[in-house]
Amino acid sequence: MSATREERIVLHQRNEKWQNPPVRIEMPECINCDACLRACPPQFGAIFNFGTDVVIIPELCSGCDKCLPACPVNCIYPFADWQTTSYPSEWWSEPGSKNDPYL
Ligand code: SF4
Ligand code: SF4
Repeated sequence: MSATREERIVLHQRNEKWQNPPVRIEMPECINCDACLRACPPQFGAIFNFGTDVVIIPELCSGCDKCLPACPVNCIYPFADWQTTSYPSEWWSEPGSKNDPYL
């Protein structure tokens, strides 16, 4: 089960009840303003600063789309064909860490 954010962080699993695909940031278009990070509901808490990039971890993203209207350059897109290998596994160093903005 991965019903809570804490469980999703431990198991690296999406909640199987989520119907919508996650979303992703098109990095060359992103201006690193962090507006999306602040708009993501804390129960999902999917967006992180990773080095100089702003990134979304698909397993934590419910596809609620709350971050989309927050983005001033509209560079957040659906990520229907995501896989665990679609992004660097190092991103998982952020959720649950002392730098986690949602804790
Ligand atoms: S779609 Fe929702 S859960 Fe996913 S990153 Fe955006 S605000 Fe967070
Ligand atoms: S709101 Fe848009 S431009 Fe700002 S950090 Fe998020 S994805 Fe990048």
